[in-house]
Amino acid sequence: MTWNVWHVSPFFTSIFFILGVFTLYQVIYDGLKTVLHSKNINIDDDVLNSWFGVLYMLIFIFSMQATVVGTPISWQFMNFQLIALIFCSYFLNIHVKWYFFFPLMLCYMAFNGSIGYWESWAHGLTLMCFYMTLNHFRRSQKNQYSFIYYITPAIFFGAMLWLFMKIKFNFSWTTYIEEWFYFILFDVLLYSYVNMILRDSKLKLHLLEFANHDALTKTQNYAAYSSQIKYLFENSTNNKLHLSMMMFDIDHFKSINDTYGHLAGDKVLQHVVDVVQTVIDANDPKVKLYRTGGEEFNIIFPGYDLNSTKPVVREIFMSLNHLPVEIDGKLIHISISVGVSTLSSEDVEPSDFYTRVDGNLYHSKRNGRMQITAA
Ligand code: GH3
Ligand code: MG
Ligand code: MG
Repeated sequence: MTWNVWHVSPFFTSIFFILGVFTLYQVIYDGLKTVLHSKNINIDDDVLNSWFGVLYMLIFIFSMQATVVGTPISWQFMNFQLIALIFCSYFLNIHVKWYFFFPLMLCYMAFNGSIGYWESWAHGLTLMCFYMTLNHFRRSQKNQYSFIYYITPAIFFGAMLWLFMKIKFNFSWTTYIEEWFYFILFDVLLYSYVNMILRDSKLKLHLLEFANHDALTKTQNYAAYSSQIKYLFENSTNNKLHLSMMMFDIDHFKSINDTYGHLAGDKVLQHVVDVVQTVIDANDPKVKLYRTGGEEFNIIFPGYDLNSTKPVVREIFMSLNHLPVEIDGKLIHISISVGVSTLSSEDVEPSDFYTRVDGNLYHSKRNGRMQITAA
């Protein structure tokens, strides 16, 4: 294939170009997010999206303009630049105060050599109104997308923005209508594309949530536990940080099921999670609860040694043993057996640590249940 068979209308090239720009954006953003999460750097995804979005779009706008600046066709890439701004304003919903627009506008006009033209000033001010209108509409939609609120400002402001360019560069009415029409088409294309991407990432998020949580008690499950303990074990070993773990098992749970029925057993499990989570929330949200088996739970205490773990363990133990569950008017008393231990320098892998905690739990069971073994 050579250049002479590539007679494609600039309109089609533009469509692929726009899709390419946003796909590249999404790929880099996803990559950045994965790297930061894998290093356990806590940065809010929305903040990352905003900062990266602004930077990416500014580089995009200025580098495109650099290729046409000072030529009679320096309006050529305006539709692309407008689409980039709409993305920041509507989809990333980045709030820019009006007084920040002026320095940005001046920079762009100085770069473009258009400070001396009234049309460029009118264009800049209209652009500012356009940005703020979309920004405001999106906020007032309570984070929902509404096509009417999205497209109406584009049609109106698009017509004005292109009109100023028509006056400044004196191109034909046909070109004016054509560019305005293309702008609206690109705008619709952006809307469909972003919605498609978002639907996909919402589904992924939902699946991830589903895979890491237990449906009955809504607490994190064994899969979440294994990945977290793997990370914390390595991190604590390498950085010589404390790490301890509590494991508990409900005593004679089978007899609760046998006496009151399986549904009553389910309610007991939900009650146990509610009580334990309340105690954890009141102490330290860094402490995490996992349902690792049917009526077995693990609690991980990052940064805790045995002594600092014990008061929280005792609080959980007391709350569960002294708070009966009411089911169908009957009060069911439960008790738990507990094993606690802390990371040792002899642990080679997470299972060594787990086995010691588990051994302590079974010591509590063998010794008569409803007790804590910590060593
Ligand atoms: P121990 O004091 O030795 O722990 O006795 P136990 O009866 O608690 O232990 P066992 O392992 O014999 O029985 C555990 C029971 O937990 C058996 C199983 O039916 C029940 N179980 C496991 N998952 C669920 C669940 O999701 N809902 C209900 N209702 N019961 C469950
Ligand atoms: Mg049990
Ligand atoms: Mg058990």
